[in-house]
Amino acid sequence: MTTTAPETLTEYQLFIDGRFVPSSDGSTYESEDPYTCASWARIADGTTADVDRAVDAARRALSGEWGRMPGKERARLMRRLADIVERESGALADVETRDNGKPFRDANAQVAYVADWLRYFAGHADKIEGRAFSDAHPNFFAYTVRQPVGVVGAILPWNAPLILLAFKLAPALAAGCTFVAKPSEFTPASALALAACVEEAGFPPGVFNVVAGSSRAVGAHLVAHHGVDKVAFTGSTATGIAVAQAALGHLAAVTLELGGKSPQLVFADADLDQATNGLIAGVFAASGQFCTAGSRILVHRDVHDELAQRLRSRAEQIRIGDPRDPEIDLGPISTGPQYARVAELLNSAAAEGAGVPKSGGVAPEVGRYFVRPTVLTDVTLSMQVMREEIFGPVVGLIPFDTEDEAVAMANDTPYGLAAGIWTRDVRRSHRVADRLQAGTVWVNAYRTNSPGVPFGGMKASGLGRENGQEALDSYLETKSVWIELADESRDPFRIG
Ligand code: NDP
Repeated sequence: MTTTAPETLTEYQLFIDGRFVPSSDGSTYESEDPYTCASWARIADGTTADVDRAVDAARRALSGEWGRMPGKERARLMRRLADIVERESGALADVETRDNGKPFRDANAQVAYVADWLRYFAGHADKIEGRAFSDAHPNFFAYTVRQPVGVVGAILPWNAPLILLAFKLAPALAAGCTFVAKPSEFTPASALALAACVEEAGFPPGVFNVVAGSSRAVGAHLVAHHGVDKVAFTGSTATGIAVAQAALGHLAAVTLELGGKSPQLVFADADLDQATNGLIAGVFAASGQFCTAGSRILVHRDVHDELAQRLRSRAEQIRIGDPRDPEIDLGPISTGPQYARVAELLNSAAAEGAGVPKSGGVAPEVGRYFVRPTVLTDVTLSMQVMREEIFGPVVGLIPFDTEDEAVAMANDTPYGLAAGIWTRDVRRSHRVADRLQAGTVWVNAYRTNSPGVPFGGMKASGLGRENGQEALDSYLETKSVWIELADESRDPFRIG
């Protein structure tokens, strides 16, 4: 990464056992601002020894004050944390924008979500209940209790670091788990900034730990660590599979939130004004760097040309530039490798015969990692750009003639994360939603989320769900307790 004068860099240390600490070997690395392409922060460069320290602290916290704390007290701490996050929202959003290049407007909204997530799951912390079985077996009473799964190891991506951390942290805290976060090497700062809020909120030491690190060994060590009871991962499908294999090596529970190639189906009866706006939100917001990006637009042939024209003219109005400028809609691609990947996919699209508008493509005149919103036409489902996750502001349009054909094309992908349906026909919307292989289907909307609504992928897009009751359940173990009621001895060699 590029370096600047050391005195201009903001310093971040690891957060382990309730304290900010340097890495065990004293090393640091620099984090780049993708807009200026200069280093802006110096980060303590965690090691596998730091992971060990963090996991040990998290285990101690489980059997200490935190482990004994009633749900309503955990809820109180979580609400206090939400208040602090809200108070610090401008600063946290600024950190996110500097590290990730996300426009401040969007980063600010995502920080507000962090507080929402904490408050929503705080409401669950004192409502974790088991079941009673008075008739499970003659002369027995049985009941279940729900207990925290234990230490959570969270591997985070760079595209929406804070909110994707909150998706995991909020239910984990509500359940009574402890937490070790390993942020992406590209965007470590916001998790470490959040740690300062956790410290101020007064959580016992070891409940929340952050080990940043530039080496792949740090995350790999965390997910393979025998002291970790559950691994929560967001990132690419290939890495997710490797992470799950490492976690299963010591029988840790796993949730995986992985990639997508989400379709947006636009029927001839759709409100094209609303659809255009939603399609723009669904693929150009955050420079298309979100897992649910609706990068395959399947559109009825009757409205194909009109929609393509509307999308291109709207795309040309998108303001790109300095993400800290509140008037800017679209910032840079977040990392150098990701910029190279998007550029490569654009080249492949052109080579395979796609229509690439002059107003689209890479934009070196704006900055080194900039890509203009690009609406591709004359694409087919077999092209690389229409099969692989792009994670950039690029979308392709493919015409269809019938509902069956649209559904078949939508499902013709290894992924199954999300889909959008644009139609005024309420019967069609339910019919098609039922047939789409996707964990989330939006109708006449896109990129909406809530802490209470489960989120996750089918097929190669993931395992398990984040958000909602499903998320809380995934941070809990169920224990069954059997009480003998009869005061008599049994035949020891007969089950029962
Ligand atoms: P990765 O999936 O490789 O990285 C995500 C996280 O996993 C990072 O924190 C990374 O750490 C960590 N990691 C990588 N390898 C291991 C391992 N063996 N054990 C434990 N942790 C590991 O994503 P990339 O950043 O390489 O992005 C590649 C593509 O993934 C993108 O182009 C995009 O298509 C997709 N992606 C999808 C996301 C989603 O939201 N579903 C999010 C991000 C990317 P480190 O930073 O140190 O490498």
